Amino acid sequence: MPALILDGKALARTLQTELKREAQALRAAGVRPTLAIVDASGDPAALQYLERKRDRAQALGIEARISPFDPAMTQEGLLDLVGRLNADPSVHGIIIEQPFARHFKAPPVLAAISPDKDVDGTSPASQGLLALGTPRFVPATALGAITLLERHGIPIAGREAVVVGRSTVVGRPAVFLLVQRDATVTVCHSKTRDLAGHTRRADILIVAAGRAGLVRGGMVKPGAAVVDVGTNFVDGQTVGDVAFDEALEVAGAISPVPGGVGPITTMLLLQNTLRGAAGR
Ligand code: NAP
Repeated sequence: MPALILDGKALARTLQTELKREAQALRAAGVRPTLAIVDASGDPAALQYLERKRDRAQALGIEARISPFDPAMTQEGLLDLVGRLNADPSVHGIIIEQPFARHFKAPPVLAAISPDKDVDGTSPASQGLLALGTPRFVPATALGAITLLERHGIPIAGREAVVVGRSTVVGRPAVFLLVQRDATVTVCHSKTRDLAGHTRRADILIVAAGRAGLVRGGMVKPGAAVVDVGTNFVDGQTVGDVAFDEALEVAGAISPVPGGVGPITTMLLLQNTLRGAAGR
């Protein structure tokens, strides 16, 4: 039987419809869902990314307020801005577009975001809540990998899950989300011996290493659900961490790159913002 394609583009459309409805309901109840986006980067690519988030937010009925990059802003100025956004009751979510410009120290700035508004889920408080099994906001990419599985009806509880990658934005939060859903989880990383020995045992395999073609077809358990988070640019093409054509022959379900986790991440960030606005 051919593998089920975990189609992120179709899911993004479904989420868009759901979130539009949620935003409308909030507005009808007198709440204007609002996301504050701070450009601490000054990088033109980050600006483009940020403007795309703003446009997607506005298309759903979420107000997006951009604080543009100010090259004269100091670390104290940035901390002060975060403090004001934390205290502003009309702001429900705060994101700081990265990478940070060189003169900023990122950890204290991320730590300053209130966990009630940290819709990117990257502050130590947000990560700590997730690790304790009581998450508030979860990084959208990790949540995207799990959402892709859940929305396609793939069971998680009691199954062997392997996560390749342990970054704070993808691998690690994915591990905690899987543990919270009662999977038995193994974490692999660059020092793992016999990666294939681990991946071949996985009923659920989430790969977020940033290494094109790291997982070959022979490393996938027959019937496994494979979520490829990797986004690599090779010979002018975007490819994942999994050799898709090979894995397609073996897996029970697999997400493509592009068109898998990528399209749903911004939707989940905006879902977090609506949850913040609803006080959920
Ligand atoms: P990262 O911070 O570079 O982390 C990569 C992780 O993979 C590290 O934990 C590293 O191990 C591990 N790793 C590297 N080479 C490995 C190997 N040969 N075998 C096993 N593990 C290996 O990257 P990230 O930010 O988590 O991102 C991972 C991928 O997801 C990237 O391709 C990125 O572009 C993509 N991504 C996609 C989205 C999206 O779709 N919206 C969002 C974010 C990221 P160590 O810890 O030992 O170094």
